[in-house]
Amino acid sequence: MLTREKHIDTLLIHSGYDSRQNQDSLSPPLYHSSTFTFESAEQGEKRFSGEEDGSIYSRLGNPTVHILEERMAILEKGTSALAFGSGMAAVSAVLFHLTNTGDHILSSRGIYGCTFALLEMLEEKYHIEHTFSSLHSADEIEGAIKENTTCIYVETPINPTMDMIDLELVVSVAKRHGIPVVVDNTFSSPYLQNPLEIGADYVVHSATKYISGHGDVIGGILIGTNKEEMETIRATTRKDIGGIMSPFDAWLLLRGLKTLHVRMERHVENAIKIAAYLKQHPLVEKIYYPGDEESSQYPIMQKQMKAPGGILSFTIRGGKNEAQAFMNQLKLIKIAVSLGDAETLIQHPATMTHAVVPLDARLNMGITENMLRLSVGLENPDDLIDDLEQAFSSIKKEIVTG
Ligand SMILES: *Cc1c(COP(=O)(O)O)cnc(C)c1O
Repeated sequence: MLTREKHIDTLLIHSGYDSRQNQDSLSPPLYHSSTFTFESAEQGEKRFSGEEDGSIYSRLGNPTVHILEERMAILEKGTSALAFGSGMAAVSAVLFHLTNTGDHILSSRGIYGCTFALLEMLEEKYHIEHTFSSLHSADEIEGAIKENTTCIYVETPINPTMDMIDLELVVSVAKRHGIPVVVDNTFSSPYLQNPLEIGADYVVHSATKYISGHGDVIGGILIGTNKEEMETIRATTRKDIGGIMSPFDAWLLLRGLKTLHVRMERHVENAIKIAAYLKQHPLVEKIYYPGDEESSQYPIMQKQMKAPGGILSFTIRGGKNEAQAFMNQLKLIKIAVSLGDAETLIQHPATMTHAVVPLDARLNMGITENMLRLSVGLENPDDLIDDLEQAFSSIKKEIVTG
């Protein structure tokens, strides 16, 4: 079995799986079984007590899901990983693990809409408070840490403003206070950024996005650096809250991972071309892309990411009406939330992914009504630019006169 010395391109395809131990099957076997049989009562007892390794029941662990977990642990340079039924199941499992009533979560200011809603719920129902910070300087981070802070939660690049957070900086301050850092690495995938290597304690992914890459799975992964802590999560907030991944979804994600490097290279190549096109367009106010060399964030991207990724946002001249009119004119680019698929997707954060965030908080995150987010797909970039161009042409008159 391949471990971590090989290049990521190779690990994506081979790590965590040994065909010799699986009937020589090139493709990992799909164990579609809810439960597993014991040879004897004593063996059952040993499996439950942990004295003997082996499967018991698929909510506790499943061999196909386990292959994915092994592979993701290697790719993200952690000690172990746990798969979940959705990205949000992974986010909630780690936050429930790290907090008790009375604790405080320090979060980056912009976060995924449902993570924002989860933080609100934790505060209302369980009195676990949170504050948002830009986390842009050591002073700012120090100032935002409280006596009861038990978790620093970071998204970078931030959805949908593509704001960057310097992970090395956050980790160095967090370590001084002994506070675990959780990074949502969905936008980068393990191919472009490895927060655990920089010193973060947990990485979460919505595997629904780049890890799948084909828009056919909802899934989540949590990777950690401390085996014992991860075992606790497996035995508590995963087992008892129960947001587990199905074996078939794990199998699809293993298949998706095999092409992650090839896909990401092309996503980035296309996004760079589209960002350059949008940047010079007179109907575009501003672009938000970590690959924009003029952006103040560019050095952070260079420091912690292999490449700037395939997601970009932009503001269109006008407001909500112009943004919606533009989307409605697109023919090739699909109107849909989610990201990381082969198809290029466009969405309107203010009324879609971040509609749950109250207006003032949304504006605080920098999400305006004229902002659109593009998940650049794998189509030919010239065809995508043609589609954007014809949509701009169609709405041009409205914007100029209105
Ligand atoms: C999609 C997404 C999530 C939630 O993942 P699901 O798989 O939809 O539950 C969390 N964080 C980010 C950054 C996302 O894009």
